[in-house]
Amino acid sequence: MREAFLKRLFSKVNCGVCGQKYDVSNIKILDQEDGLWVLSVYCSSCGTQGLIAAVVQEGNITEVITDLTEAERERFDDSEVVGVDDVLEMHNFLKEFDGDFANLFSEK
Ligand SMILES: [Zn+2]
Repeated sequence: MREAFLKRLFSKVNCGVCGQKYDVSNIKILDQEDGLWVLSVYCSSCGTQGLIAAVVQEGNITEVITDLTEAERERFDDSEVVGVDDVLEMHNFLKEFDGDFANLFSEK
Protein backbone atom coordinates (compact mmCIF):
# COMPACT_ATOMS: atom_id res chain seq x y z
CA MET A 1 0.00 0.00 0.00
CA ARG A 2 2.72 2.46 0.91
CA GLU A 3 4.53 1.82 -2.32
CA ALA A 4 1.46 2.70 -4.34
CA PHE A 5 0.84 5.71 -2.14
CA LEU A 6 4.36 7.05 -2.56
CA LYS A 7 4.23 6.59 -6.30
CA ARG A 8 0.96 8.46 -6.51
CA LEU A 9 2.26 11.19 -4.25
CA PHE A 10 5.39 11.77 -6.31
CA SER A 11 3.47 11.69 -9.54
CA LYS A 12 2.14 15.05 -8.29
CA VAL A 13 5.65 16.48 -8.26
CA ASN A 14 6.87 18.54 -11.19
CA CYS A 15 10.18 17.84 -12.86
CA GLY A 16 12.64 20.46 -11.61
CA VAL A 17 14.06 20.93 -15.09
CA CYS A 18 11.12 21.13 -17.46
CA GLY A 19 8.12 21.33 -15.12
CA GLN A 20 6.34 18.25 -16.39
CA LYS A 21 4.77 15.93 -13.87
CA TYR A 22 6.48 12.61 -13.36
CA ASP A 23 4.63 9.63 -14.74
CA VAL A 24 3.77 7.00 -12.14
CA SER A 25 5.38 4.34 -14.33
CA ASN A 26 8.65 6.31 -14.20
CA ILE A 27 8.77 6.37 -10.41
CA LYS A 28 10.57 3.39 -8.95
CA ILE A 29 11.12 2.33 -5.37
CA LEU A 30 14.80 1.55 -5.03
CA ASP A 31 15.04 0.64 -1.37
CA GLN A 32 13.22 0.83 1.91
CA GLU A 33 14.57 0.49 5.42
CA ASP A 34 13.35 1.71 8.81
CA GLY A 35 10.86 4.08 7.23
CA LEU A 36 13.38 5.55 4.81
CA TRP A 37 12.26 5.14 1.25
CA VAL A 38 14.50 5.83 -1.70
CA LEU A 39 12.84 6.41 -5.03
CA SER A 40 14.21 7.12 -8.45
CA VAL A 41 12.27 9.35 -10.79
CA TYR A 42 12.64 9.73 -14.50
CA CYS A 43 11.12 12.54 -16.54
CA SER A 44 9.92 11.17 -19.85
CA SER A 45 9.62 14.72 -21.17
CA CYS A 46 13.22 15.92 -20.82
CA GLY A 47 15.00 12.74 -19.74
CA THR A 48 16.03 14.03 -16.33
CA GLN A 49 16.69 11.37 -13.74
CA GLY A 50 16.84 11.97 -10.02
CA LEU A 51 16.62 10.46 -6.59
CA ILE A 52 14.10 11.18 -3.87
CA ALA A 53 14.48 10.05 -0.30
CA ALA A 54 11.43 10.15 1.91
CA VAL A 55 11.12 9.41 5.61
CA VAL A 56 7.80 7.77 6.31
CA GLN A 57 6.44 7.19 9.79
CA GLU A 58 3.07 5.62 10.37
CA GLY A 59 1.80 6.77 7.04
CA ASN A 60 3.08 10.32 7.36
CA ILE A 61 5.99 11.56 5.33
CA THR A 62 8.11 13.65 7.66
CA GLU A 63 10.99 14.57 5.39
CA VAL A 64 11.79 14.53 1.71
CA ILE A 65 15.19 15.00 0.17
CA THR A 66 15.70 15.13 -3.55
CA ASP A 67 19.00 14.82 -5.31
CA LEU A 68 20.12 15.50 -8.82
CA THR A 69 22.22 13.19 -10.91
CA GLU A 70 25.87 13.89 -11.57
CA ALA A 71 25.16 15.24 -15.04
CA GLU A 72 22.50 17.57 -13.75
CA ARG A 73 24.72 18.83 -11.00
CA GLU A 74 27.36 19.74 -13.54
CA ARG A 75 24.81 21.43 -15.72
CA PHE A 76 23.48 23.55 -12.87
CA ASP A 77 26.74 24.02 -11.05
CA ASP A 78 26.87 27.77 -11.56
CA SER A 79 23.30 28.48 -10.68
CA GLU A 80 20.76 27.64 -8.03
CA VAL A 81 17.92 27.26 -10.47
CA VAL A 82 16.99 23.73 -9.60
CA GLY A 83 16.89 21.80 -6.40
CA VAL A 84 16.47 23.76 -3.22
CA ASP A 85 13.18 25.37 -4.18
CA ASP A 86 11.71 22.06 -5.24
CA VAL A 87 12.71 20.39 -2.02
CA LEU A 88 11.32 23.26 0.02
CA GLU A 89 8.13 23.26 -1.99
CA MET A 90 7.66 19.57 -1.37
CA HIS A 91 8.58 20.00 2.25
CA ASN A 92 6.00 22.75 2.71
CA PHE A 93 3.42 20.75 0.83
CA LEU A 94 3.92 17.81 3.15
CA LYS A 95 3.90 20.03 6.22
CA GLU A 96 0.57 21.56 5.26
CA PHE A 97 -0.89 18.33 4.01
CA ASP A 98 -3.71 17.14 6.23
CA GLY A 99 -3.68 13.52 5.17
CA ASP A 100 -6.83 13.69 3.10
CA PHE A 101 -5.62 11.69 0.14
CA ALA A 102 -9.03 11.14 -1.36
CA ASN A 103 -9.36 14.89 -1.70
CA LEU A 104 -5.79 15.37 -2.91
CA PHE A 105 -5.99 12.84 -5.68
CA SER A 106 -9.46 13.78 -6.84
CA GLU A 107 -8.53 17.35 -7.67
CA LYS A 108 -7.09 17.85 -11.12
ZN1 LIG B 1 11.62 17.07 -17.21
